[in-house]
Amino acid sequence: MLNSNCGEVAEHPCVYLTNGDLPFSLPFPLTAGRKPVGEIIELGDGISTRKKGDRVGVPFLQSSCGRCEWCLRGKPLYNDQQQGTGAQLKGGHAEYMLANANATTL
Ligand SMILES: [Zn+2]
Repeated sequence: MLNSNCGEVAEHPCVYLTNGDLPFSLPFPLTAGRKPVGEIIELGDGISTRKKGDRVGVPFLQSSCGRCEWCLRGKPLYNDQQQGTGAQLKGGHAEYMLANANATTL
């Protein structure tokens, strides 16, 4: 869990997301904010690559299936199983947010 300091609201992607113009469904209500940064205040079980107090960046793509044609071609953003920040996952425009520790950058 991060204490989320800021997150981008990109004009076009966020409009597409909130209008439902993308070829996949999103869980509404969603929290926007695609590329937030924040300080880790709590870690999930078994996480050893990050520690409390680390300041991290969270990319848009937090995970994908890794097995489909798009992932195998190195284009996971086309994967319909992707988990994107501010899309399928709650974004950074909140006081706190959850992120996949393995997706974050120091
Ligand atoms: Zn895939």
